Order: sequence, then C-alpha cells, then structure tokens
Amino acid sequence: MPLDLLLRRALLAGQPGREVDIAISDGRIAAIEPHVAAECPAEDLGGRLVLPGFVETHIHLDKSCILDRCRAEHGTLEEAIAQVAAAKRAFTEEDVYDRARRTLEKAIVQGTTSMRTHAEVDPRVGLRSFDAIRRLKADYAWAIDLELCVFPQEGMLNDPGTEELLIEACEKGADLIGGCPYTDSDPNGQIERIFDIAQRFDLDIDFHLDFDLDPTWMHLDEVCRQTARRRWGGRVAIGHVTKLSAIEPGRLDQIGRRLADAGVAVTVLPATDLFLMGSGHHHSVPRGVAPAHRLIEHGVTCSLATNNVLNPFTPFGDCSLIRMANLYANVMRLRRTADIAHCLDMVTTQAARLMNLPDYGLAVGNPADLIVLDCQNATSAVAELSQPLLGIKRGRQSFSHAVPILHPP
Ligand SMILES: [Zn+2]
Repeated sequence: MPLDLLLRRALLAGQPGREVDIAISDGRIAAIEPHVAAECPAEDLGGRLVLPGFVETHIHLDKSCILDRCRAEHGTLEEAIAQVAAAKRAFTEEDVYDRARRTLEKAIVQGTTSMRTHAEVDPRVGLRSFDAIRRLKADYAWAIDLELCVFPQEGMLNDPGTEELLIEACEKGADLIGGCPYTDSDPNGQIERIFDIAQRFDLDIDFHLDFDLDPTWMHLDEVCRQTARRRWGGRVAIGHVTKLSAIEPGRLDQIGRRLADAGVAVTVLPATDLFLMGSGHHHSVPRGVAPAHRLIEHGVTCSLATNNVLNPFTPFGDCSLIRMANLYANVMRLRRTADIAHCLDMVTTQAARLMNLPDYGLAVGNPADLIVLDCQNATSAVAELSQPLLGIKRGRQSFSHAVPILHPP
C-alpha cells in the first residue's frame, strides 16, 4: 500500500518507553509498528507522545468573545444570562461567524480535533447563530469535526416560539438537542419536551443541569428517569452538575451508580464552575467543581470541557483542553500519577465516548486524526500543560507550533 506520511518514534499513552512508527495512507492509519520501512515523507517525533486529538464536548462558540459588549460585575450566573440575553439581540450571522471562527481556530491550534458546540435558539436570536455555525462547520471540516447542539438557554415553556425554532433547527440539520431546565418555569416539563423532540428526530441530548450548590433537589433525577423510560441510555449527557460538589461521599456514590445504570454521561466545566459558583461567599469560597473522577469509578462516562470563552460566564480562555485537565487535577488536589494521567482520558477517550464518536483512537483503519504533544507520557502532559506541536486531520497536517528554542549568551 502506498503511504502518504510516516511519523517515526512516537510514544502512545499507556505504553511508556515503546517507540512506534505510525504510517498514514489515504487519510487513515495504515500501520502502527516498531519500525515501518517505506519511501515516503517522514517526520521524526523524537519519542514524543501522540494522542488521537482532544475532544471538546461542551463549548459555546456563538457567545464567545463578547466581553467588550457585556458587564461581568457581580460574577453570577443570573448576571451572565441577562447580559448575554441583551447582547444577542444584536447578533448578526456575520458577527457570530466571525467570533466563533476566532474561537474555533484557537481550539484547532490547541489540538482539538472534534467538538460539540451549543448554539442558543430563541425568538431573540432566531436561527442566526445556528446558521452561522453551520457555515463554520462546513468551512473548517478540514481541521475539526464540529457537532451542533441547539438549546433554549432562557427556558422553553416560558418562552413562546422557542420550541418551534428548536424544531425548525432540527429539521434543518442540528446534530443534537440540548436543554436548560434550570431557567424554565416548568423544568420537568422542559425535560419531557426535549426528550420528545430528540426521539422524533433520533438525536442525542445534552442538558445544562443542576448548576448551583443546593443539594436538596436535583433535575438529574428526572433526566435519569426519562432516559430509562425512553431507553435513551448512552445518548444523554448533563453538563455542570455543580450540586455534586456539595454532597457527601456516600450520596455521591449512590448518584454515580444511578447515572451509570441510566447511561447518563457527565461533563464538568472547571473554568466556568469555578468562576460562577460560590459568588455570594466572601471567604472560604466553595469551588463548585463536580468530582468527575469519582463518578468514573462507578462507570459513568465523564468529560472535562471549556464551556465559555471571553464572556460574562467565563472572562478567560484559550480553548486549551490540556489546561482544563490541569485545572481540574489541581482543583481536585490529585496526587497519584495514575489519577493525574486519567484527567487526560476526560479530554480524549472518555470525551469521545460521551459524544458517541465512531472510529476515535489510534488504531489501524481509523481516520488519521492525531496530535503530537511535547512530552513523553500522560501524567507529564497534564501536570506540565504540554503543548501540542502539530496536528493531523484525516491524514493532512492541520496546524503546527515550533519547539521553543533557548538562546543563551
Ligand atoms: Zn454550557
């Protein structure tokens, strides 16, 4: 078989000290062997770690980069929703496309090769954000697989016209549907309707859920119930779930088993959760980050993701998923090298499982989607925020960074 590219001396996660060559042909991985003999363009990776690309399971491209038109004075969830609700009336398709493009390009050069973005749909913004991101998805397919999740940020049953717009977006090709019961006047009613739409269009579901620190009630109970009733296990994810940071370990174990049994996955958004939770506290501020690594022990699929970039929900962000893995490990005070390494799973293999990505992973026959990190193993990648040096999407190089060079006197 004629090869297009050969990557020499790669290290794979979980296989320390065993360098391999990765051969690429026709956009796919043709071989992974200790030594591949071939006459084709080759790159010596010098014993660096190769991963199958980062998977961003939860980001809002449509409302990124709007800090210049919003206030973030109180740093509360209510303020952030209200500020964006006002700003988005002025969103045009071109404006959304331009800001989303800048954010998407950042993610690509940080090594993200698959992404699920949310897009708000309601009578204020109509389908303008949805249409902009659909164009972006097509324009950047050479670098990233972009999945578009439409959702009602400001509620649905309280917001006439929203459900019709969501259905119109699904008819026009939305990849999945999201929900946000905490802003709805009838949270369980919204959950029911979102499941109805998902079943009608055969779509996965991704809820924003249980985004506060009051552990006395949770919408995840209703989501688990509906997931089981509709046999939608493996197709439902919930994001934030910061309430899980406010419960004692025994109850967390119970909920972990419940989520695993129902087939409901969890996404933790460390940057936003740290920024918005506990804003009423002036000292001993709670962190508000759900302990995903504890849920994984019960068999729950869990990912870490970026959520918001440069807006009132999170006025920070460079779209680096290695940064999210490092932030999470730091906040959770992980100490064992294996626990730190597992944070990398939550932005790669676990994240790919949450999104039900077919053909993800470094294996012969899979698409040649991969990135090269400037390190030797998963623990160093997370601990030292190792930077991706180059990325390949379906066999074609999609970005590169130069290795830093010191210039001593
Ligand atoms: Zn979100």
